[in-house]
Amino acid sequence: MDHQENRQFRLARRPVGHVKREDFEFRTDPARAPEAGEIMVAVEYISLDPAMRGWMNEGKSYIRPVGLGEVMRAGALGTIIQSKAEGFSTGDVVTGALGVQSIATIAAKDCTKIDPALAPKPLFLSALGMPGMTAYFGLLAVGEPKPGETIVVSGAAGAVGALVGQIGKIKGCHVVGIAGGPEKCRYIVDELGFDAAIDYKSEKIPARLRETCPEGIDVYFDNVGGQILDDCLAQINLRARIVICGAISQYNNTTPVKGPANYLSLLVNRARMQGMIVFDYADRYAEGAKEMAGWLREGRLKSREDIVEGLETFPDTLGRLFTGENFGKLMLKV
Ligand code: NAP
Repeated sequence: MDHQENRQFRLARRPVGHVKREDFEFRTDPARAPEAGEIMVAVEYISLDPAMRGWMNEGKSYIRPVGLGEVMRAGALGTIIQSKAEGFSTGDVVTGALGVQSIATIAAKDCTKIDPALAPKPLFLSALGMPGMTAYFGLLAVGEPKPGETIVVSGAAGAVGALVGQIGKIKGCHVVGIAGGPEKCRYIVDELGFDAAIDYKSEKIPARLRETCPEGIDVYFDNVGGQILDDCLAQINLRARIVICGAISQYNNTTPVKGPANYLSLLVNRARMQGMIVFDYADRYAEGAKEMAGWLREGRLKSREDIVEGLETFPDTLGRLFTGENFGKLMLKV
């Protein structure tokens, strides 16, 4: 393969509703040679995340939107093929915002060197990477679960949700997951050890929450927003913690986001609802990754990756996150 040709997806227009292939330009350019402080990386795995949909929109967020004509932003992992940066050598493996492209030329200070001897590479984009840190700090630092408490997590068979539930079990909690379809529900109970699962596509959530959470909800880890958030708010306990991690049911809306109608439950229960952004914990990732790696080694934590081959499939593969077709941490193999 000629490493100097860079295949890339650039944002061509701002999507309306679900992402379409025409929202991007797929093209091949010569890769840019690194300047002082930069590295050139052959990208191997690209993380596909629900947040990418938000980055395509105009307007203020926790991170600047991707500009029209720019390479689509994405977390990724690859191997250095040229380096002009001290401490980074050809052959080193790094993660960073390498983008949806086959070769990235990027400031080395914005990348993290990883040791591929410690775990298979895809794990550094799942349990040992951004989704893992989201689950770890979102649940433990924001949700603050105590042994014996009840945790409910939505998006429960997904990259973040599956880890949240397993960490909850490690911490001695009663854990209920909400996921779409019988296969995912079976998986989180039988394979991951959740106490119960609710299939939001075929079951009545309020009734199933009463059955599976007889003592009410102490921590609700929200990945989906919308009606499921409302249903959970209706069954929280005194001083419950609601972690607002994501709201995937709302990301492709063409109408305004649906806010929770049951918010007075926070007042009545003196409860706390708090947003979290994983990047705020960047200075503690080493601590989180060390503990997660230990649990993985001991077999107490399982990580599941859903790896799709082919950079060129990017727009369609990204769409799987919003139909529930992914099963595990979704990523592209370049
Ligand atoms: P994921 O759960 O692996 O994949 C997305 C899943 O969402 C799908 O598989 C699907 O599962 C579910 N889903 C899609 N549309 C839905 C809908 N309308 N209603 C209910 N569920 C729906 O993705 P992830 O990477 O772990 O991300 C999960 C959430 O965490 C997202 O909201 C994401 O934005 C958020 N997140 C936040 C941070 C942060 O720093 N705050 C960091 C990472 C991720 P089913 O088959 O079960 O429907």
